Amino acid sequence: MVIMGIHSNGTSSSNGLPQRSVYLDHAATTSVLPEVLEAMLPYFTEKYGNPSSVHAWGRAAHQGLEGARRQVASVLGCRPREVVFTSGGTESDNFAVKGVAWAYRRGLFEGKQPSEGPGHIVISAIEHHAILHSAEELEKHGFEVTTLPVDKYGRVNPDDVGRAMRRDTALVSIMYANNEIGTIQPIEEIAAIAHAGGALFHTDAVQAGGSLGLNVERLGADLLSLSGHKFHGPKGVGVLYIRSNSPILPQQHGGSQESRRRASTENVPGIVGLGAALVRAHQQLQSEAEYVRGLRDRLIEGITERIPAVQLMGHAELRLPNNVNFCIEGVEGETMLLKLDMRGIGASSGAACASGSTEPSHVLRALGVPRELAQGSLRLTVGIDNSIEDIDYALDVLEGCVSELRAGANSMVSGVA
Ligand code: PLP
Repeated sequence: MVIMGIHSNGTSSSNGLPQRSVYLDHAATTSVLPEVLEAMLPYFTEKYGNPSSVHAWGRAAHQGLEGARRQVASVLGCRPREVVFTSGGTESDNFAVKGVAWAYRRGLFEGKQPSEGPGHIVISAIEHHAILHSAEELEKHGFEVTTLPVDKYGRVNPDDVGRAMRRDTALVSIMYANNEIGTIQPIEEIAAIAHAGGALFHTDAVQAGGSLGLNVERLGADLLSLSGHKFHGPKGVGVLYIRSNSPILPQQHGGSQESRRRASTENVPGIVGLGAALVRAHQQLQSEAEYVRGLRDRLIEGITERIPAVQLMGHAELRLPNNVNFCIEGVEGETMLLKLDMRGIGASSGAACASGSTEPSHVLRALGVPRELAQGSLRLTVGIDNSIEDIDYALDVLEGCVSELRAGANSMVSGVA
């Protein structure tokens, strides 16, 4: 049982000043909840058999594995055998993109022949690197990729998907919700367009997994990626939903686990944890989303009112209930993160440090955010273990940090030490 707002965060007193410890990086990862850990523990110590073994130990592990498969299927509204367990979101994305492209090349698509073209996939410019880099890899093998632009809120225009479709389009892969700016895509519409063109539709639902509906019939998804650690399950375990009879080739070869679709002994404790965490999240979906949305809005309103010259990134309404992303003029994101960390706040920025210079993320670039503004990007992602007091503390600290950084920048400009 989770009591919202009282978990990983707390108050400590170093250097005499009261300081809270506030984790605001739930898009990066989340804690494993006690009941999830409890469900996992027997599979490390008692039911440790290999689920492919025929003996009692193997059967006990197999029961855990198949129980988790049924749990995931119940949330996705699919058949258990359409659920394939993987090592995480990255593997699921690689499997979907490469597996479908190579199936096209092998002539496994009904109504499409490899002679009609080299094989084509459609993605958006703001996909996670697991999709972007998989697509780049396919290009090295002669596949062609259309990367769709997004509007200033990060939305894909379904008409652009329609215009991109070709005879040899095997796959359209558009994420359900973005990991940096939280924008939610018009998935159902895009799926229908992909299907009309004879292509499969994949969605990376890694960020949406714990807070948005995942019914694959409603979404129109033929393939859908999830990752356990984004919804209070363990790391290193994920799901690829594969609609029955979809043309897709395995990307990992070896044993015949997961009905010959993904070789390797299953991570049974992790899979049991993922199943328990997903069911728990979806039983509480409405109430937790409402709670988290309240914290998010308090943070957005507080930042907008208290800190001048800030811009909210992403869509005002069509966004994940836990995502806050601002570009703050006149501050450097990475420096701000360090300052926040010193005061007990765990946050993230949409910029990556490469060889000494801070490069704005591909997501902010795709939104058309000017480079200088993008340098001041800050992502705060709230969770069920945050409280209102955490948010108010974060606002106080953030206001102070921004003032200090701006004062420092001004004094450097005017030559004052
Ligand atoms: N896709 C999205 C949208 C993500 O946010 C992430 C992780 O942050 C991934 C894929 C990769 O997931 P994993 O960390 O399980 O490999």
